[in-house]
Amino acid sequence: MTVTFYDTMARRKVAFEPRVPGEARMYHCGPTVYSSPHIGNFRSFLMADLLRRHLEARRYRVLQVMNITDVGHLTEDDLDRGEDKMMAAARREKLDPIRIARKYEKEFFEALDLLRFRRAHHYPRATEHIGEMIEMISTLVDKGYAYVVEGNVYFEEEKFEDFGALSHKKLEELIDGARVAVNEEKRSPRDFALWKTDPKHLMQWDSPWGRGFPGWHIECSAMSRRYLGDEIDIHTGGEDNVFPHHECEIAQSEASTGHRPFVRHWMHCRHLLVDGQKMSKSLGNFHTIASLREKGFTGLEIRYALLRVHYRMPLNFTIEGLLEARRALSRIRECRARLVRIRDGLEACGAEDPRSALDEFERGFGEAMDDDLNVSEALAVLFEAVTFLNRCRPDRAGASSALKFFETLEDWTGCLGEEPRVEAAAGVVWAGPPDDPSRERVEALAREREEARRAKDFAKADRLRDEIRELGFALVDGPGGPRIEPL
Ligand SMILES: [Zn+2]
Repeated sequence: MTVTFYDTMARRKVAFEPRVPGEARMYHCGPTVYSSPHIGNFRSFLMADLLRRHLEARRYRVLQVMNITDVGHLTEDDLDRGEDKMMAAARREKLDPIRIARKYEKEFFEALDLLRFRRAHHYPRATEHIGEMIEMISTLVDKGYAYVVEGNVYFEEEKFEDFGALSHKKLEELIDGARVAVNEEKRSPRDFALWKTDPKHLMQWDSPWGRGFPGWHIECSAMSRRYLGDEIDIHTGGEDNVFPHHECEIAQSEASTGHRPFVRHWMHCRHLLVDGQKMSKSLGNFHTIASLREKGFTGLEIRYALLRVHYRMPLNFTIEGLLEARRALSRIRECRARLVRIRDGLEACGAEDPRSALDEFERGFGEAMDDDLNVSEALAVLFEAVTFLNRCRPDRAGASSALKFFETLEDWTGCLGEEPRVEAAAGVVWAGPPDDPSRERVEALAREREEARRAKDFAKADRLRDEIRELGFALVDGPGGPRIEPL
């Protein structure tokens, strides 16, 4: 029973070896909250959740941290072009950046509940850890790894000799494509920004170098250290984070603390395609959790569809795949419903004892998960168990054991069982103009009406619907929850 993963740094499967036996301290690169998180992000977050569940099933004490990037997604390109996505969103939605960030952060947490994530222990916001970032940047300047030009601070990549070790790139490949405009301040085009002074930026803080804002990479180095110390057991992210983001994190962390390694195991999730193509707004194949719910899919169906393919295999996400997920989950539900009837004496029982077979299935499931979270193989074992149980005529105690088996696997995968209760509460879909002045009020009324409806207070629900109508909107009930449409 050894947990193994594919380690990006080692480029092979290795046994999990935490710093302290029995503990697992993990850091995951989290969402950038300037727009609705899309399902590609959720594939990598779900891999982290599955990892957490598996380690807990194997009795590790897990400490899990996922950052919330609310400063702005500052890639080198953005910095060189002076374009910050948080600022663009603020302009687009006519809200100040912190309100934008809180709005999408709320949406992110609702999606976590819908997809039945185990909540991480900490979700640090970048804007609340600027002090730690400034401290780390100062250390890097003091130690000679970083230099200051006109209020901007850059990491001098040449000073850190292991740069490129994670992505296995050669020095000449380390320039992030040809898109980077020439920045004459930098000693080398490979140097990256730690702090940018910009009095026009919408989000700025005081620093020893002037009022400005931090680069994106320093955020993860500073916050992982704050919550997990100088050495992390597992760091995960999407494959697009390997370079430059994670290379930069390693350089910043190891150079500032002097401690190696910063991370014992690196794990990266492959990206996802939708209908065989890269997901993009212009192709119309851009899915968010909210847009899939509008199409009538539930949180668990989305979770299953995103999880069922091994995280290092490409996943082609399609509506057909979601429908398959629906069928798979209902097969499990039907199997369980029959077992409940047998256990409760509502259906004739037999005399078979499924327990030793169930132990074998559980062992097979666990072994597949130990093998680099091989979830597709683990689910195949689960469905063998379903087929077996559908043919089996257990006695009442046997049916009880089989239901326990499902509960164990429900804990392990987070996919089985009933939809989380948050489902109905979170779903009010806005179909009016995005910047309508009465939007906030109407949405609040619609949520209140949902609550009244679920509490079967229909008089109140009707009154609230009328109130919404007076504000010029109709409330239409649909499979994805109530929808608000302009009259
Ligand atoms: Zn990160």
